[in-house]
Amino acid sequence: MPIDFTLSERDRGILQNVREEGLICRNYARYYDEHEEEFAPDVLPEAATFEPSFDVSAHPYDKRVDSGLPVISALASIGSTWGDYSVRMRRGGGGLGNAALSAAGTDEQKKKWGGLTLAMAITEPGCGSDPSKVQCTAVLDEASDEWVIDGEKIFVTTGCRADGVILWATVDKSAGRAGIKSFLVEKGTPGFVVAHKEKKLGIRADDTAAYVFTECRIPRENLLGLNEEVQTKGSGGFRGVMKTFNMTRPMVAAIGLGIAEAALDFTREELEKAGVVLEYGGSESSLSAPAARFIRLETLFEASKLATLRACWLAGEGQPNNTESSVSKAHAGTAVREICQGCIEMLGPMGISREHLLEKWLRDCRITDIYEGTGQIQRLIIARDLLGYTRADLK
Ligand SMILES: Cc1cc2nc3c(=O)[nH]c(=O)nc-3n(C[C@H](O)[C@H](O)[C@H](O)COP(=O)(O)OP(=O)(O)OC[C@H]3O[C@@H](n4cnc5c(N)ncnc54)[C@H](O)[C@@H]3O)c2cc1C
Repeated sequence: MPIDFTLSERDRGILQNVREEGLICRNYARYYDEHEEEFAPDVLPEAATFEPSFDVSAHPYDKRVDSGLPVISALASIGSTWGDYSVRMRRGGGGLGNAALSAAGTDEQKKKWGGLTLAMAITEPGCGSDPSKVQCTAVLDEASDEWVIDGEKIFVTTGCRADGVILWATVDKSAGRAGIKSFLVEKGTPGFVVAHKEKKLGIRADDTAAYVFTECRIPRENLLGLNEEVQTKGSGGFRGVMKTFNMTRPMVAAIGLGIAEAALDFTREELEKAGVVLEYGGSESSLSAPAARFIRLETLFEASKLATLRACWLAGEGQPNNTESSVSKAHAGTAVREICQGCIEMLGPMGISREHLLEKWLRDCRITDIYEGTGQIQRLIIARDLLGYTRADLK
């Protein structure tokens, strides 16, 4: 089936709205980069008139002309992080945990918790790239019909702001992956403590928290997916929740690409002001050295964007996209760094001055290659898929 990324009138309207919101977010970019400790819920008062741009699902959709939800969501993510990634994140509702809830929760759970902003906590002090090493435990107390959670989680995105968390814990350490289940724990539950907020290299306006759970009791029905069959074979268990990454990885790529596009736009403007002529379509030898270098960075951006949209398009068509989603994230993870670094190099002192945002964009884009599986882990997944290796063959 041919892929067509032509934008419809609805698509263009959504992206225009996103761009206007992005311009507002950009006004706050430096402030929250430098005031990471501030955590005001009423951030961006003048953006209040815009609906949160990630909620593109709210727009009526005509299958014949409009881009499907995954593609328009990726384009909206690019547009919105073009404004400022972390200010936008701070403003938006919903978190990574909401994606897990919609993939793995029962209808009743989705109805009950769908309105909450949910963080997702997998990573622990001794468990990051290999989530099967989760040490956080969940023990069923049959007498009270409650799960008792004990353990620590680190690097929880939107962990301070979230209303609750989808957390991975093991019910049987000897069972490895099969013992890992997802649970929903709401803020305010006794035994659930937000231990601290991280101070970070970049994306400082969005909070990243560490959690501690000590004899934290939650109702039995807070096991995501609830019934045993869903947990072991279907969407609620380890494999099912891992599948949610097939959609969130291209979104992480898109988020990084928005930052890279901002860097390219700024650099293009400055190069043109300095008299550099960017001529497209000719041979590279007819271009000046800065023009040739800049156009190569733009090409890298376009290649990464197309890989990301392709992964999203496959998801929208209900086709498998495991390899493509890892390709999009692995490619964007390095491309966005190369682009931001290249722009800084081309603009010299202007690139590293805090009077402009380029140096911040380089710091902000670093996360693209870390969370939701590092670049190395994406390359392992791609190699396994292409070469037909199992996890045991190649790890
Ligand atoms: C700002 C931020 C936000 C985050 N948000 C969340 C969140 O919301 N929820 C959450 O659960 N986690 C989150 N994380 C954690 C993130 O997912 C992990 O940092 C990431 O998975 C890597 O794990 P690690 O840091 O433990 O590194 P490790 O797993 O210790 O890896 C260290 C290095 O070794 C490499 N490596 C590891 N295994 C292999 C291998 N088999 N082959 C080759 N190389 C390998 C890795 O690529 C990496 O470069 C966040 C992290 C950050 C920095």
